[in-house]
Formats: sequence, structure tokens, C-alpha cells
Amino acid sequence: MKCPFCGTFETQVVDSRVNEEGDSIRRRRRCMGCQKRFTTYETAELRLPQIVKHNGKREEYSDQKIRVSFMRALHKRPVSTEQVDAAIDHVNQRVLALGERELDSRRIGEMVMEELRKMDKVAYIRFASVYKSFQDVDDFQDAIREVDQ
Ligand SMILES: [Zn+2]
Repeated sequence: MKCPFCGTFETQVVDSRVNEEGDSIRRRRRCMGCQKRFTTYETAELRLPQIVKHNGKREEYSDQKIRVSFMRALHKRPVSTEQVDAAIDHVNQRVLALGERELDSRRIGEMVMEELRKMDKVAYIRFASVYKSFQDVDDFQDAIREVDQ
């Protein structure tokens, strides 16, 4: 960590403390060159990945898209909105826990499939049978849209 005053790379941590919420560490540092002190903060980076589609295009991960997939698979099935919300939460948590900058859209599809399997067998089979022959969630949504019409 470079000293912001003189640019020296050698600094010494003189004090570290975790904040009350436990999600950030504050460090007091002293520059070995000019002896000035400064503070740095360390926090965990929780960033959602870019989704890599089978055609190579990237797009932002969006739980709205995941929701559409769930809703289509669960069409007319006895599953509550709370259950769907919980399933979307699980997917979000798993995506965050992976900590990847980029994620293949197939991985997302598999996570959706696992959640559906736990929630509703019919929806799971509906999703799996259509999804498995497609490359990503968008293709699945198009296919289901056609089936619905
Ligand atoms: Zn300095």
C-alpha cells in the first residue's frame, strides 16, 4: 500500500480494528518514508457476475430473469410466492458465494433446476425437459412461451 503523501511503498500497520457490524476492517498505517499516518479500509467485495451466454455474449446477472424462469416453470402449480422468493434468494446467495466475475448461463440454469426439484416435481420436469435441450435460460423462456401460446 503506497503512501498517499510521498508515494513510498513501505508502510506499517499500527492499528487494525473491525467495525461494529463486522463487515469492514480499518487499518491505521504509518509511512516508513515520511512517517505520516493514514487509514485504509478493507471490505469484502460482493459483486454479481456477468453471465456468459452460449453465444458468447455477456449480460448482467439479473434475478428478475431468474424469476421469469421460475414463474414459467411453475405456471399453474401450487407453489406460493414466498417459496419462489426463497428459491430466488438461494440462487442469489449461491451466485454470490461463488465469487466469480463471470458465470456460464448453464450454471444458473442448473441452480434453477435444483430449486425447482425441491419445490415442485412437475415444474422441475417441465423445466428440465425443455431446458436440457437448450443452451441457456433465454432459449428456455422462448420455448415455454411458444408452448404457452
Ligand atoms: Zn510517506
